[in-house]
Amino acid sequence: MTEPGRLFDPDEPPPLRPQPAGPAVVRVLPDVSGLEKEFDYLPVADGEAPPVGSLVRVELQRRTVAGWVTATGVTPPPGVTLQPLVKVTSAGPSPDVVELARWAAHRWSGRLGPVLRAASPPRQVPLLPELGQRGNGPGLGGVSLVRLAPDDEGVGLIEPLARQGSVLVITPRLGAAGHLAGRLRRLGLGARLHPRDWPTSASRGGVVVGARSAVWARVPDLAGIVVLDEHDESLQEERNPTWHARDVAVERARRAGVPCVLASPCPSLAALALVGDAVHKPARSAERAGWPVVELVDRRTEEPGRSGLFSPRVANVVRGPGPVLCVLNRTGRAVMLSCAVCGELVRTEDREHLMVERDGQLVSPATGESRPLVCAVCGAAKLKRLRLGVTRAAEELAALAGEPVAELTAATRPGARLPARVLVGTEAALHQLGGVDTVVFLDMDAELLAPRYRAGEQAMALLLHAARLTGPRAGGGRIVVQTRTPDHRVLRAAVHADPGILTREEAVVRRAMGLPPYGALAEISGAGADALADRLLADPGLTVMGPRNGRWLIRADTPDHLADALRPSERPPGRLRVHVDPPRV
Ligand SMILES: [Zn+2]
Repeated sequence: MTEPGRLFDPDEPPPLRPQPAGPAVVRVLPDVSGLEKEFDYLPVADGEAPPVGSLVRVELQRRTVAGWVTATGVTPPPGVTLQPLVKVTSAGPSPDVVELARWAAHRWSGRLGPVLRAASPPRQVPLLPELGQRGNGPGLGGVSLVRLAPDDEGVGLIEPLARQGSVLVITPRLGAAGHLAGRLRRLGLGARLHPRDWPTSASRGGVVVGARSAVWARVPDLAGIVVLDEHDESLQEERNPTWHARDVAVERARRAGVPCVLASPCPSLAALALVGDAVHKPARSAERAGWPVVELVDRRTEEPGRSGLFSPRVANVVRGPGPVLCVLNRTGRAVMLSCAVCGELVRTEDREHLMVERDGQLVSPATGESRPLVCAVCGAAKLKRLRLGVTRAAEELAALAGEPVAELTAATRPGARLPARVLVGTEAALHQLGGVDTVVFLDMDAELLAPRYRAGEQAMALLLHAARLTGPRAGGGRIVVQTRTPDHRVLRAAVHADPGILTREEAVVRRAMGLPPYGALAEISGAGADALADRLLADPGLTVMGPRNGRWLIRADTPDHLADALRPSERPPGRLRVHVDPPRV
């Protein structure tokens, strides 16, 4: 993989001085997209070798490009004439983080450059002295998982670690990080915001709070890492390599021998698997008190023929006091079928997925299962379509409420004053507002039964967002869910304010299918995907599924096996997009 040195080019001027002994030679990864070779250079004229992680500028193919020092004291191959670095521009990630980045690039089957970019300061920082680190040694520390009530910010998890040294605190969104940093400062914990305070956290440490890239932050004397809302998909990078801050945090803490604390009101199956289901739970009464009331409105029981968007109960809620947000999920444009007689949704035999009508038959896009156009519950052959859209919902809501209704779009400014008492929007609205008493989910079934293996966890995350918007039940917080599947594990978990109900049942389904965390998945697409899928078929340890819409799914028993199979050097030529651990397949 490493191709050291630049070959002597007769057109270039002769080297400035004879090649020195090994210790001064540095290896550099140029920050050039598509290039993953590393090259050897001499230090800047008569200077010392900059430490690993430093940002430098080098000459490459007659251009000056940026890059990172990835090793020092290397031995260049004999006969190679080296150029000096053009310039040392900035301090960068610490050497241990460079090694961690290398691990992540392999684990998520991508290049090292994008990971080092995420780990680099947002602007130039003078070189820093070698960092003091604790001497715990790898293997000590360990991972723990803490379930929190939705209204618990997790400050109690940070304080004990902060007394011992630097702590990295990872949150899904920068907004939440800023809020938490302010709160910690008021508690006298001197929190710094990542990446804004990169230079001070790199030299002085402390509590460093940020979104996912804070997991790469450079700090002296690391005492522990806390990942808040570890279930949140924003902790995963969207572009290749699709590293996940939770998993990087666990590996970084393991290497440093410090504790890693994962926390969430609805822990992911991935985190539960990491700790062998040993989760620290809050007292039942405290956890319940932290959730709003969750009320299910069973639409199957309404009189046959009724097919409006809103049940009589929801009409009452909308006319009642207090700000109300009605949410139509982004999957809300999907056409759902229900039985015109008994009101049940048309689902697959295992009741996990929706079925749609295709060529006079019912078909599941998720599993391919098919049957004639009949209700599996009562046998009736009369099915009806349920079709929903935000604009129509807003019109009907305004008529029901007898007052103007505001439609929220992606452009609505976060934290803006509520534009009306009754609001309607997609799930994005859950991130944009505050101060709502009631959230109504108009079509949660489309989310619950979506053809994605993580649909249940994703629906639970939506309910948690809503819970944080409305606040706890004692303050009047309420979530109303219109559904035809009130027995779904997600809804039972929410009603009982007990996320364990969801994860226990979900784990059984995942284990039976060998899906993550009981197996590893990658999605591959692009011109080279067919050839790669062909090659992977020869590996008996892999399951190759597809292609569907030009995409293949590759399953292995472990992330390591998957990473080895998808190693860039093993790939056939052709454009290839690799997404390891895709959350929405
Ligand atoms: Zn029926």
